[in-house]
Amino acid sequence: MIDILKDRQNQVFEGRKDQKFEMSCDKISAAGSVSQRACVFCGSRVVLYPIADAVHLVHGPVGCAAYTWDIRGALSSGPELHRLSFSTDLKEKDVVFGGEKKLYKVLTELIDTYHPKAAFVYGTCIVGVIGDDMDAVCRTVSREKGIDVIPVHSEGFKGTKKNGYQAACTALSNIIGTGDISGIPEASLNIMGDFNVAGETWQIKSYYKRMGVNVVASITGDGRVDEIRRAHGARLNVVQCSGSMMTLAQSMKEKYNIPFIRVSYFGIEDMSKALYEVAERLGDAAMLERTKSLVQEEVAAIMPEIRYYRTKLEGARALVYTGGAFKVFSLVRSLRTLGMKTVVAGSQTGDKEDYQQLRDLCDEDTVLLDDTNPMELAKYIQEKDVDLLIGGVKERPIAYKLGVGFCDHNHERKICLAGYSGMLNFSREVYSSVCSPVWSLMPRRRKFTGGI
Ligand code: SF4
Repeated sequence: MIDILKDRQNQVFEGRKDQKFEMSCDKISAAGSVSQRACVFCGSRVVLYPIADAVHLVHGPVGCAAYTWDIRGALSSGPELHRLSFSTDLKEKDVVFGGEKKLYKVLTELIDTYHPKAAFVYGTCIVGVIGDDMDAVCRTVSREKGIDVIPVHSEGFKGTKKNGYQAACTALSNIIGTGDISGIPEASLNIMGDFNVAGETWQIKSYYKRMGVNVVASITGDGRVDEIRRAHGARLNVVQCSGSMMTLAQSMKEKYNIPFIRVSYFGIEDMSKALYEVAERLGDAAMLERTKSLVQEEVAAIMPEIRYYRTKLEGARALVYTGGAFKVFSLVRSLRTLGMKTVVAGSQTGDKEDYQQLRDLCDEDTVLLDDTNPMELAKYIQEKDVDLLIGGVKERPIAYKLGVGFCDHNHERKICLAGYSGMLNFSREVYSSVCSPVWSLMPRRRKFTGGI
């Protein structure tokens, strides 16, 4: 038996008839809970790192940078500066006497060596504690080298991963609006909150191209500084991973009067809805026709195989836990397409509105978890007889230790899961994992035998 920590009782909804639905989210993680959620710095780096022609410098002890190399499988069609991990490697002496001189030296050396289009400097916990004036150093280097050097105030202790998203959006605001926007056509948009994991942004761009829509900037998957500078010339912002990009979309609406829509590119329903919504906002009757043909062709191509997986997976039970809540909605729908039931769902950064929407979408008895931890995940995997955990690198060992299938839907994965072909890849992954014969060797209370 595992009890829910007292401080977390309002962040767990068990779907009992006598339980009032009131998710207390937007909180810092409860002490002792060993949250699955990452720090502020992590939030900002995952948003900004896919900008491939910029230097990304972590100002802090080398440990903060340990997990930055290839943190996302964010692919680039050109330069690959983002795949290098740079740190000022602050030591005890720097903590005592300050790290500004070291930051200046490292920044100038990096810019002289790599000639980046811009540099992002991430402040970590210790920098916040010793009070280095990062802004002043960035200003000086920017003036001397003639490129944008942007401080990202992401000291890890300053809040939650969400505050890191906001710091990243603030940094992006500094470069948006500085490029020439002449010649941008009417039917144009910015892709926001897609990070080109396993080439997903390319997949989405190919759909927009077939529809006749021009992509001004991809923020930030396969991102380029000069494209982001022109982002204020687009007619529409299309926001995925709304947790990370809503602040920027809202500020661009206020500053440049660019409307935004929230979409998801995962699953047949949500992918199609996104394309139709873009066509309605930007296009004419001809674009709407092109979109219809695109959707019909793509769906027809994948459905026969998906129907086969459905016969194998019908009745299997899933636990879904991701960073942003919007992705959870798509996963619940995608699992339904495969005949599966989501018995537990949650996110690291969902807000009240997200959880209400999730409650409406899920079954009556689905458990909802905000900012959960390994103990709670283990508890519900067992209590709800879960056959599949969908999460990221931190959730994978929990699934395997408990002998259930796992599908990586996080940024480390190497398989494209967005779009129509992505839905097919997802179905194959889920089928391979849930129906693996290895689970028959595990001492589970209920074993899924559907497709085996
Ligand atoms: S919590 Fe602080 S010390 Fe730890 S990785 Fe984040 S910024 Fe670095």
